[in-house]
Amino acid sequence: MNCEHFKRAYKKFDGATNVIHWRDTDTPEYHAYSDHMQDCHPCRDWFQTEQLTEWKVDPNMYPCIHMAFHANLQCGNHEDPRDCPSILVIYLEHYDEYGIPSRDGGESYWKIDHCPWCGRSLPESKREQWMRKLRALGFDPVKDIDRVPEIYKTSRWYRDGGNPNLRLV
Ligand SMILES: [Zn+2]
Ligand SMILES: [Zn+2]
Ligand SMILES: [Zn+2]
Repeated sequence: MNCEHFKRAYKKFDGATNVIHWRDTDTPEYHAYSDHMQDCHPCRDWFQTEQLTEWKVDPNMYPCIHMAFHANLQCGNHEDPRDCPSILVIYLEHYDEYGIPSRDGGESYWKIDHCPWCGRSLPESKREQWMRKLRALGFDPVKDIDRVPEIYKTSRWYRDGGNPNLRLV
């Protein structure tokens, strides 16, 4: 399969026009398609960019296309991404931290500092800052995790500069 064929096959297997969301993966064409994605990095990046557009994700919010793709990849079969063998990298938005799940049945993961695909430096973790902010607001970041203001469960607390007026609810 060449790159042109790959892009045509994408429309059939994964593209927006694939409204049926069903695909026969046990065909020579599908195997050639997934082999091409493994071997051809420009096509893999093209695939991820196409998917991000479909998911309405702005890749500029992430260090690179690969991290954007993996941070937003969802599986219909596994609610928790840590349980899904297809999800290689998890993104902890509230810490701005990327990691590889350790698959030990718990929540642990190996933090990564560079993209495994392109080597781009990832942002420095904001975990310590997050802890300090919550303590300053009167929360115990471990015990009060369910009660912390919603913005501290997302990236909004550092992207929007946070809201200093938020108090215990
Ligand atoms: Zn290609
Ligand atoms: Zn899954
Ligand atoms: Zn990358």
